[in-house]
Amino acid sequence: MDAPLDRSATWPYEAGQPGRFSYARADHPTGVACEEALGALDGGHALLFPSGMGAVTTVVLTMLRPGGTIALAEGAYYGHRVLLDHLAPWGVHVVEFDQTSPPPDGADLILVEAPANPLLTMPDLEAAVAHPAPVVCDATVASPLRLRPLEAGCDVVLHSATKVLAGHDDVLAGVTVTRDPDLRDRLHLTRRLAGIVASADTAWLVLRGLETLEVRLGRQEATARVLAERLTAHRSVAAVRYPGFSFLISFDVADGEAAGRVERALQVIENATSLGGVRSKLEARHRWEGDRIPAGLIRLSVGLEDTEMLWGDLAAALDTA
Ligand code: PLP
Repeated sequence: MDAPLDRSATWPYEAGQPGRFSYARADHPTGVACEEALGALDGGHALLFPSGMGAVTTVVLTMLRPGGTIALAEGAYYGHRVLLDHLAPWGVHVVEFDQTSPPPDGADLILVEAPANPLLTMPDLEAAVAHPAPVVCDATVASPLRLRPLEAGCDVVLHSATKVLAGHDDVLAGVTVTRDPDLRDRLHLTRRLAGIVASADTAWLVLRGLETLEVRLGRQEATARVLAERLTAHRSVAAVRYPGFSFLISFDVADGEAAGRVERALQVIENATSLGGVRSKLEARHRWEGDRIPAGLIRLSVGLEDTEMLWGDLAAALDTA
């Protein structure tokens, strides 16, 4: 690992003037090294945040004015909707739209998700960027190895780096990447003033994760393809959503009771939230998302374990559904 882990919060002035690094709320060397790596992956200027939600909050505070409307993809990460509703007293209006179609007229900011977690629809990026409002694409589930939304004309790409980028479920992190340096500077200003700043340890762990991203994703995806195919043929499974790439699958069993039985029967796959990490995780999403999704919807994030071991665990658990 080339980047040093520099935990300093402050650095001495040089000849009486602040140098490149003076106070870590603005920038720190480990963070900048991480941002260079993340920026290269997505083809733009990256900024690191202490979580994916920290990144989204910074984007909304910077790119939307009070009274403005954000158009949010239906079926996108439910935390986005909860955050935007929470910001209603600050004048944030939210409308949901089907991201496979053009965004609604009158929106001031557009947030799509590629693919949406957990409904796994893909946005129509061409239609989104044809809208006059700036477009933000949360590409957490695709990762920059499978989709580079800036190349499709999006203004901001956003990731929860907690997921596959860091990959080990031992750090929370977020990232924005932009092509426009002015927009990067505006986001940086909000980040610095609000103190929504990732630590050096966070940056170091994300950098460590990036070193194995390609190998991890390749294997997770190969296993996910096999599992998606076998799930489709299983008698307890009503519908399988898998976009043909990535580590994330969602599928439906009969109802919430059946989903709960599957969760409790697992022996290998962790019954836990989150996605993208080296250990497979499965959960019924209804407990979080309520009626936005089918009651029997189960989300499976495929890790690095042996494919047959995973299928054995899943098939046995599904027999209880
Ligand atoms: N975006 C997506 C697609 C997510 O799945 C999540 C978390 O699950 C987030 C953003 C939020 O990221 P974080 O948990 O790092 O704040």
